[in-house]
Amino acid sequence: ATTALAGRVAVVTGASSGIGEATARRLAASGARVAVLARRADRLENLVGEIEQAGGSALALPVDVTDAAALRDAAERVAAVLGTTDLLFNNAGVMLPAPVEEVPVEQWQHQIDLNVTGLMNTIGAFVPHLVAAAADRGVADLVNTSSIAAQNIFPSFAVYSGTKAYVTHLSRTLRAELGAKDVRVSVIEPGIVGTELQGHVTDAGALAWLDGAKKEMTWLASEDVAEAVNFLVAQPAHVNFQQITIMPTRQP
Ligand code: NDP
Repeated sequence: ATTALAGRVAVVTGASSGIGEATARRLAASGARVAVLARRADRLENLVGEIEQAGGSALALPVDVTDAAALRDAAERVAAVLGTTDLLFNNAGVMLPAPVEEVPVEQWQHQIDLNVTGLMNTIGAFVPHLVAAAADRGVADLVNTSSIAAQNIFPSFAVYSGTKAYVTHLSRTLRAELGAKDVRVSVIEPGIVGTELQGHVTDAGALAWLDGAKKEMTWLASEDVAEAVNFLVAQPAHVNFQQITIMPTRQP
C-alpha cells in the first residue's frame, strides 16, 4: 500500500462492480478511507472485507442513488464514521442502447433517472462536504464518470449519449464554480470497458455490435480506469485535470 491519499475520505458510487469497485480498491490501496455505495449490500460487504484484509479502511453503504434522502443520510454516515468526504467518484450508471423507433420509454427513463438524476442527487448530498473539506484541507475532488459516447456518435446510443454529454458539460461548468473553492472537478470519458454494463443490454442490434467490438479489440479493464482516477486525485492541490479520455488502443 502507498500513502499518496493518506488522510483522505473517498466516496465511490457504483462500487459493487466494474469501474467503481476497481476504483474503490485502488483508492484504498493509496491510503484513502473509502465509503462504497451501490444497491447490492452483499457485494459491498465483500469489497469492504477485502480492503480491510489488505490493511485499508472502508465502509459499505447500501443506497439507491435515485433516492436523494437516502444519499443525504449516507453523507452524514460517512462524516460520522470516516470523516468529511473530500473525494467523490460519482460513477453509478447504466447503458441501454436501442433504436429510437422502438420507443423504449422505460429504458430511456431508467438511464435518465440514474445517469442524470442519480448523479445530481449524489452531487447534492456530498458537495457541501467537499467544499467544507477543501476549506479545511486545501483540496477536494469531484470526479464524474461520463463516456466517449458524450463525444462520438454511435447509432442506437442517443439517450445514453445524451445523459453522458450532460455529465461532461455539467462537469466543466461545475469546475468553474467549485474550483474557486479548491474543489477540483474532473470528468472521465472511457471507451469500452469490460464490466457488467454490457450485461444489461437487451437490444439485439446493440448486442451484435458489442460482440463485434469484442472480437476486434482488447477492451479496457476496470483497473485501467481506476488507475486514471487515482492519478487525477493524487495530483498536487493546484493541478486539476479537467477531462480524461481513456480508450482501448484499437477502438476508433
Ligand atoms: P457496472 O454495471 O459494472 O457498474 C454499475 C454500478 O452502478 C454497479 O455498482 C451498480 O450496483 C450501480 N448502480 C446501478 N443502479 C444503481 C442505483 N440505482 N443506485 C446505486 N447504484 C446503482 O458498469 P461500469 O462499471 O461499466 O459502469 C460505471 C460507469 O462507467 C457508468 O456510469 C457507465 O456509464 C460508465 N462507463 C462505462 C463504460 C463501459 O464500457 N463499461 C464506458 C464508459 C463509461 P448495484 O446494481 O449493486 O446498485
